[in-house]
Amino acid sequence: MATKKKTTLIITEKPQAAEKIAAALSDAKDEKITSKDKVSYYEFERDGRRILVGCAVGHLFGIQQIVARGPFPNFEVEWKPAHEKKGREYTKRYYDVLKKLVKQADEFIVATDFDVEGEVIGWNVVRFIAGKKAEKDAKRMKFSSLTKEELEKAFEKPQETLEWGAAIAGETRHYIDWFYGINLSRGLMKALSTTGKFRILSIGRVQGPALKIIVDRELEIKNFEPEAYWQIFLQVKDSKGQKIEVMHPKDLTKKSELLKFKHLKDKKGDAKTDVREEKVAPPVPFDLTTLQTECYRLFGLTPAQTSKVAQNLYLGGAISYPRTSSQKYPKEIGYDKILKRLKKHTQLVKYAVNKKPTEGKKEDPAHPAVYPTGESKKKIGEQERKVYDLIVKRFISCFCAAGMVDHKKIVVDVGGLRFNVKGLQIKDKGWMNVYPHRFKEEKVPTINGAVDVKEIRTEEKQTKPPRRYSPASLVRELEKKNLGTKATRAAIVETLYSRGYVQEKSMEATELGIKMEATLRNYAPEILDEELTRSMSIELEKLQVAKKDLDKKEKKVLDRAKKEVTKLAKGIGDNLEKIGKSLEKASAAVYEKERKANTLTKCPKCGKGNLRIMYGKKFKRYFVSCDAYPKCKTTYSLPPNGKMTPFRDKEGNLEMCQECGFPLLMSFKRGKRPWKFCFNPECKTNEEWVKKKEEFKAGLGAKKAKEKKV
Ligand SMILES: [Zn+2]
Ligand SMILES: [Zn+2]
Repeated sequence: MATKKKTTLIITEKPQAAEKIAAALSDAKDEKITSKDKVSYYEFERDGRRILVGCAVGHLFGIQQIVARGPFPNFEVEWKPAHEKKGREYTKRYYDVLKKLVKQADEFIVATDFDVEGEVIGWNVVRFIAGKKAEKDAKRMKFSSLTKEELEKAFEKPQETLEWGAAIAGETRHYIDWFYGINLSRGLMKALSTTGKFRILSIGRVQGPALKIIVDRELEIKNFEPEAYWQIFLQVKDSKGQKIEVMHPKDLTKKSELLKFKHLKDKKGDAKTDVREEKVAPPVPFDLTTLQTECYRLFGLTPAQTSKVAQNLYLGGAISYPRTSSQKYPKEIGYDKILKRLKKHTQLVKYAVNKKPTEGKKEDPAHPAVYPTGESKKKIGEQERKVYDLIVKRFISCFCAAGMVDHKKIVVDVGGLRFNVKGLQIKDKGWMNVYPHRFKEEKVPTINGAVDVKEIRTEEKQTKPPRRYSPASLVRELEKKNLGTKATRAAIVETLYSRGYVQEKSMEATELGIKMEATLRNYAPEILDEELTRSMSIELEKLQVAKKDLDKKEKKVLDRAKKEVTKLAKGIGDNLEKIGKSLEKASAAVYEKERKANTLTKCPKCGKGNLRIMYGKKFKRYFVSCDAYPKCKTTYSLPPNGKMTPFRDKEGNLEMCQECGFPLLMSFKRGKRPWKFCFNPECKTNEEWVKKKEEFKAGLGAKKAKEKKV
């Protein structure tokens, strides 16, 4: 009898990563095995070892309270399978397959994304599914891109243990985020419920300071009193007939100052043109925040959208790991090799004349700056293509020559008063041949010597309030203030929107956002304090690189968090009614707005009421019903679990189904792409779906009948 082959189980973070890793390590000779509920794993042999590659689907475990309706604040929490939570049921299929696979394995390698979150995902699979021994012995594959060569290297030389600092720091962050976020959010909702109202409210350790940044800016804008100021322009002409308009460089704040310029018309002046040459260095490599900022500037993508697109590109092997703070490309990534591969995609590589790339100041111990691997994904969507293209251009431009720009300045002196105008000309494009730059050419003539003043023009202007933050500039501000992590900042921005605290593209604080900030300032001010959040972040960063006494250090951070949350919870708990009152009106205003946004078209049954998307608290799912209820009882069920919104075009008009004329809806579901659909069960577009549902029901019936017989 042949002895059983030694079996290694590689645990990945996402299905696509499992597929890539299996293909890389097996020379594409892996066998793909798909379970009946459509979760795949891979099996192959390598150097006489049997290898299984299985996957998680992000977090398979989450922090939950040990008993429902615990004390307030509640610190009695533990890791539980994520599938026990509403909306995350889909993770069970992955959990089950891994459970089966661990039984066959005698060695474990964690190959999740190499960062804090990835470490926690991998650690939880190993300790809660494979067990104590596996936890101690598990090895760790470290890689920054899903390319064959890097994966093979990572597999041949894995780290002997998990990255314990990252694992413990990650776990600690999950705990304290729960302590703050769940406890305080519950407190706020409880406070609101004293007025008989319900609304999902939340506040958190990073969300608090982020909200304060937005509200502070909003109040600054609200309290801003514009002041008038004046600008003076002269039109001058030289002896050759060249004309140019020059401006007085100082804004005049008093109208009386204008008199000083009145007499200048028809006077003679003296012009002088200076040209200053500037060498413009190429941009530095992309860290995540810069990538997000640039994608917002150029394509209008929110930081969360950019993160998602970049993650897809990474999983497809097209780019390196995007969640990085680094602005450096180490030479190990193989500059020449990548540039050579990129040649197949773009002619622009010819501008890459330097052997070494530029580099920025920021560093990241885990990953290099974002770079294209040169291995292109076959199928690629519109957004992915744009973002990929930009990453390629950024990479190439880091190897390009500096650009040369001429700054031209004409200064005109009229009786001791000086005026000027500036021009700009790109003389040598260098890297600007490759990357979308911000320089705008402004042509001005060269004028020297005597000029005549032909015309005087004044412009009255108003000082402007500071600008609101955009999703991208808020992410940048949070990073600058060391609030949140590169993995969480984009999500914080999204939460501010989904809670109704902000609206519009340039983030305008709503009445509810302003009220929430004011209320917290009164009763639990520390939750808004960025200093506290930052010092907690620093503790977590220290934990991440710590080598010993990790458990003790974790406990210390948690104890501090508990103490702070207890104090905040007391501030809320002691003032429930006051807080409720304070939030009631603003909450109602947001509710009214949402109600309007969720209203669809006239009810086809009664013709009087309007159909509206509703959320059923009891069954925790969305449905469509007629707002003439209870007179009209028309309802339509919607698919479970997703968040449903009407599908609107850019002008805000509802888009209708081509087949039946019902308004179309969008479903946003975790782990799935947004999906546009018609909710009319009688619509042709739903025929197949309805048929399937009926078949499924019939099948279940038959199965039940059979079971009964036995
Ligand atoms: Zn109706
Ligand atoms: Zn339809």
